[in-house]
Amino acid sequence: MKAISVFSDFCGGNIELIDASRADGIRLNIRRDSHADYFQWFYFGVCAEAGAKLGFSLENAGQSSYPDAWAGYNVLASYDRQQWFRLPSQYADGALSWQHQSEQAEVYYAYFAPYDQARQQQLLNTIAAEPRCNQIKQMHSPAGHSVELFRFSNGQAAEGKRKLWLIARQHPGESMAEWFMEGLLEALFKMPDDTGLIAGADIYFVVNMNPDGSWAGNLRSNGAGTDLNRAWAEPSPETSPEVLGVRDAMDEIGVDLFLDIHGDEELPYVFTAGCEGNPGYSPRLKQLEQKFRRRYQEINPDFQSVYGYDQDAPGEANLAIACNQIGQRFDCLSFTIEMPFKDNANIPDEKEGWSPSRSMALGVSTLQLMEALLPELR
Ligand SMILES: [Zn+2]
Repeated sequence: MKAISVFSDFCGGNIELIDASRADGIRLNIRRDSHADYFQWFYFGVCAEAGAKLGFSLENAGQSSYPDAWAGYNVLASYDRQQWFRLPSQYADGALSWQHQSEQAEVYYAYFAPYDQARQQQLLNTIAAEPRCNQIKQMHSPAGHSVELFRFSNGQAAEGKRKLWLIARQHPGESMAEWFMEGLLEALFKMPDDTGLIAGADIYFVVNMNPDGSWAGNLRSNGAGTDLNRAWAEPSPETSPEVLGVRDAMDEIGVDLFLDIHGDEELPYVFTAGCEGNPGYSPRLKQLEQKFRRRYQEINPDFQSVYGYDQDAPGEANLAIACNQIGQRFDCLSFTIEMPFKDNANIPDEKEGWSPSRSMALGVSTLQLMEALLPELR
């Protein structure tokens, strides 16, 4: 029998092999972030005989950053790293396990459909080819990767023109955030200049805030070990230059709406987290938040507002979180948008669960939503 090899030396790869002497009992650990102790994201390849009955166990799943997230989770598999499908998985005694009779000699498994550097380069090429897009700032991450801030604008000044900001993938393991951005931008670039959104707003965006972590296969942190979404109160040029660069640009330009795109490991729903705990939270913002959520649900049934995080008590918000800091700083509508790793339990899809295509469709819906709310943002 051919020896089994397990490998993760590629963009976004993450696994540690304990033992692969038995095909039906391959024992693995998820590796910690490159410079911090978080872990949950995994992504690896296996070479074995086509048709082999493979069995896997992630033995340290129970010690991961979100151990409660494994119940009800099903792993993703792919032969070509383009099409991903779910395999029934079991979480017991602190380990996540699954079986798979692989149709091919080479097969990949991941926590969610990866969004790698090659895919991102295609997206950046598409952005570069769009005449209404300009790179207005470039930051450098602690590991030396480039983080680009773009403006999409028809170039016309207009009375009351809004400034809409979107950032994605502060948490590198939440790859659905970049799929969301790809869907949103593709639809945006097809819009003619006379649509209400483009006539009435300039759109500022970053497709990937954390390339360090994304390419290293990290869950939450960059090449300095920083969780960027806890760095917005006091961003540092050494440990969170990605955040500092974006926040400085916001201070120069202004913000009328901020959306920060994420994935949630535990909850099987699409939801938003708002600014109810901010010191500056007002009836105006509360009403706007309610309108945003109501319209979102009308436009895309994957969105719901029954399930989500516990609300912050008044004045108790953590201002190191992007959504809270920007909402407070600019007295504007500001949300974290969360998509599931598992599925939307209200509209389950057994084959794919939550997927790149649904993330992209949510991005398109978010464009429609921004257009609908434009007149009311100030
Ligand atoms: Zn996140």
